[in-house]
Amino acid sequence: MSSPHPDEERAARVAGRWRDAQRRVADAATAAGRDPREVRILLAVKTLPARVVREAVLSGATLLGQNRVQELTAVAPELAALAPTWHVIGHLQSNKVNAALQWAHAVQSVDSTDLAARLSRRCTALDRDLEVWVQVNVSGEATKSGVTPAAALELAAEVAALPRLRLAGLMTIGARSDDEALVRAGYARLRELRDALVGSGAPGTADAHGLSMGMSGDVELAVAEGATMVRLGSAVFGPRPPA
Ligand SMILES: *Cc1c(COP(=O)(O)O)cnc(C)c1O
Repeated sequence: MSSPHPDEERAARVAGRWRDAQRRVADAATAAGRDPREVRILLAVKTLPARVVREAVLSGATLLGQNRVQELTAVAPELAALAPTWHVIGHLQSNKVNAALQWAHAVQSVDSTDLAARLSRRCTALDRDLEVWVQVNVSGEATKSGVTPAAALELAAEVAALPRLRLAGLMTIGARSDDEALVRAGYARLRELRDALVGSGAPGTADAHGLSMGMSGDVELAVAEGATMVRLGSAVFGPRPPA
């Protein structure tokens, strides 16, 4: 007998891990004195074949994130019948905007006025709206994209004012560190920026309550600081092969 394909083995474990992840996020919310329904889970599915992602969607996952437009346009058609909601969560190049908008309900990685303006123009031409999040680099790590915290409010206000863009909130990738206080301080910073944004009175910002933050290694810290959406990959799909 031949051994099962590794993708099949991985797919078989997804349902249980998805349940565990939901429980983990709900427990984190309860521990933080929050309603578990306030925290949604988006699955980061980079590098995964469609048949593995499909298991998660069949188990009840509805929000999926892709980092690269090339992967989005390769995997999304195979799952179209299940109608998941796709978010772009990686750096989006201007020349990929049209392709991204074929599948994306939301772009979480808006980090410049140029990109926002291009998304807005394209959405106007397509007569559709787009959910957008402004990505903030709270850790200051040079490898991470995102606007600086100092420039975040100005960019967010500009984005929120553009036609057809609906600003949902702020997104960040946490510090890559074992120092929990440092990671948590970054998430607290994003929450403070969000509070300032929502309170700013700038057009289109009143509903921008979203905080997309927290990954498999630090969900509890992010939820404790107010995350409304966590982005999980390895917790549900297992470790990724090295890039
Ligand atoms: C890969 C990725 C995640 C998920 O990371 P895990 O550590 O596997 O949970 C979340 N957000 C972004 C932007 C990612 O690229």
